[in-house]
Amino acid sequence: MAGITIDSVVKRFGSGQGEIVAVDDVDIDIGDGEFVVLVGPSGSGKSTLLRMVSGLEQQSEGDIWIQDELVNGKSPRERNIAMVFQNYALYPNMTVRENMSFGLKMSTDLSGDEIEERVERVAETMGIERLLDNSPSQMSGGQRQRVALGRAIVRDPDAFLMDEPLSNLDAKLRTTMRTEINRLQSELDVTTLYVTHDQTEAMTMGDRLVVLDGGELQQAGTPLECFYKPANRFVAGFIGSPSMNFFEAERDGSTLRSDGFDYELSEELATSVDRYDRVTIGVRPEDVEVTEEPERDNQFRCTVDVVEPMGSIRYLYLKPVEQSHDETFVVEIDGQRPVKEGDELYVDIPERTVHLFDTETGAAVHHRTLTAEAEAELTDRMADAGVASE
Ligand code: ADP
Ligand code: MG
Repeated sequence: MAGITIDSVVKRFGSGQGEIVAVDDVDIDIGDGEFVVLVGPSGSGKSTLLRMVSGLEQQSEGDIWIQDELVNGKSPRERNIAMVFQNYALYPNMTVRENMSFGLKMSTDLSGDEIEERVERVAETMGIERLLDNSPSQMSGGQRQRVALGRAIVRDPDAFLMDEPLSNLDAKLRTTMRTEINRLQSELDVTTLYVTHDQTEAMTMGDRLVVLDGGELQQAGTPLECFYKPANRFVAGFIGSPSMNFFEAERDGSTLRSDGFDYELSEELATSVDRYDRVTIGVRPEDVEVTEEPERDNQFRCTVDVVEPMGSIRYLYLKPVEQSHDETFVVEIDGQRPVKEGDELYVDIPERTVHLFDTETGAAVHHRTLTAEAEAELTDRMADAGVASE
């Protein structure tokens, strides 16, 4: 049984010159009980897509199915889904108990006692049983968000749709609620589509990510797959923090010539990119190696522009000495390593950590090497999440 199917869905706003394609021919299959996180920058079409699944917005083209039922044209009420938003949307003049039972009173024929029992059971699960007779104005943001979640759960929907539900909470509470939503979702086993612009939230929640940019689907895969095997430069830069570093280069035989340095490829890797003249090198900050003295071939000299101490690690913003512009790239080093602004360091990018992209289209043409264990784990997870491997 399918959870939610989004089939060739397009959403346009306005017309003529002012037309915006907010969602551009997107296909997503969400399995029954699966937790899918829709992630992308602001304006990428996440909320619009979620609103179309909920019925608050009608798609311009394509079909949407919820639990094997075609819901095109159906109102939100006719779709058995529950929404949770960023701003809680609780009724301020009702108690928690009334907020949680209101939807059930309106849309089901459960008796008063049955409703009462359900509300109390869910309140217990959410740890808000002692707040049932309070009004939302007496509660903290975290408590209100718990009530909003409880109100969604109590309806026993076919699917949860959540749009940035944690973005009004402070950082610490956000982390707690992240874990809690993960736990709840796996306990309840309800199909969930969760929207966030925050890549950390996306990485730590959900069985599978769907990455959107400019209304277009960039990649659908497990969090680790999107991290280690990004489909393109956009995903590579969006997932992971700090972002992957990119160096655009011209290919000259087996040498990639970027503005700041030349990068020599092994024969094997050179062969895999010999169809491309312009190649972008990608490397994550934690994979770059730096030494105080020159030690190997393929190193290039950099000056330290900024040192950012984070505690156990430091981020260095480096600029290749030979580079003609002022852009820096970031590397991660041990927090105790004594490096100062203005120092000169020797940098190399181990080939096993390198990602290569076709500069013209942004498509990934080579992914970093993984250990056999990591590769096996990734394949297992892809199978669990129902993702076909390449
Ligand atoms: P996200 O949730 O990823 O930030 P949205 O789905 O809200 O993005 O918006 C996607 C695009 O559609 C944006 O360019 C936004 O301005 C546009 N958009 C969203 N809703 C409307 C609307 N009701 N009318 C016109 N344009 C809209
Ligand atoms: Mg949004």
